[in-house]
Amino acid sequence: MVNWERLSAMADDLSLALKDDTINGAQTDGWHCLRCGALWITKKPAHWRCGICGAEVEHQRIKNYRRPRYYLPFFIDQETAEDICLDLLKKNLKGLSKHFCTSALEGLQQIYLSYWVFDLNSIADYTAQSGQEIKENRKRNTAADQNNINWLEISGSYSYRFNSLTVTAVSSTGVRILPTPDEYNLMAMQPLADVPQVAVMGYDLDLKEAWSVAQLKVKSQITTAVEQQLCGHSGELIRGIRCHIDYKDVRFRQVLLPVWLSCCVYHRRTYNIVINGVSGKVKGKGLLQYK
Ligand SMILES: [Zn+2]
Repeated sequence: MVNWERLSAMADDLSLALKDDTINGAQTDGWHCLRCGALWITKKPAHWRCGICGAEVEHQRIKNYRRPRYYLPFFIDQETAEDICLDLLKKNLKGLSKHFCTSALEGLQQIYLSYWVFDLNSIADYTAQSGQEIKENRKRNTAADQNNINWLEISGSYSYRFNSLTVTAVSSTGVRILPTPDEYNLMAMQPLADVPQVAVMGYDLDLKEAWSVAQLKVKSQITTAVEQQLCGHSGELIRGIRCHIDYKDVRFRQVLLPVWLSCCVYHRRTYNIVINGVSGKVKGKGLLQYK
């Protein structure tokens, strides 16, 4: 059973958060990848390399970084992740060297990925044009038909509740290889008491930007839903749908989702192995070429 009430209670009010300047001046340590642009947030010192592309990372102090408050714990432990990785290498990569397999296993690390999740009510007031054929001219066809349709202005409203609308918090690097939130059971999320000890791939899309992306998603889904609803009425012709959407009770969460990630180089090409940290499922066909 999906407990939306429990999940909603775990979210913060968006309008308050966007007005809230208490995070202004808050700083956090970050490490920025010089090659792919990934941002790494962790307690660990910066003696490591980017988990996505393997390049060097540069220390940065980041202002106004909003800390994640919820996470999904790892279910797949190191041993299991190594078994999955080994199995994958054995099965599919017979042409690869032993050295590659070793480095793929050695490079395996726990990583948390950042996502924004929104819950909201949307109310759309729409206008559109509904077309009806003028029947006596039915036998004629082709371009002349355009003139035989009577277009009427129509309007109405449509409301819809969005639960757990997710936006990937990483706008640039590695998006292609990272798991999507629907690969996880977001219902199992837990409050995060402290910054996790594992590396976190932080957001480069902040809350405001993520909300803009979420609004575009809502608008697109609502427009499609309105169109389907209107066309459902005896297959009417519909054109020029315009929606004005009001957003109510918008709440958000920044969540961390777990992956085991390996980054290794072979013949000057960078490869990634991405394992879902909860289900153990491997992303794609196993070995993903970086860029
Ligand atoms: Zn990188």
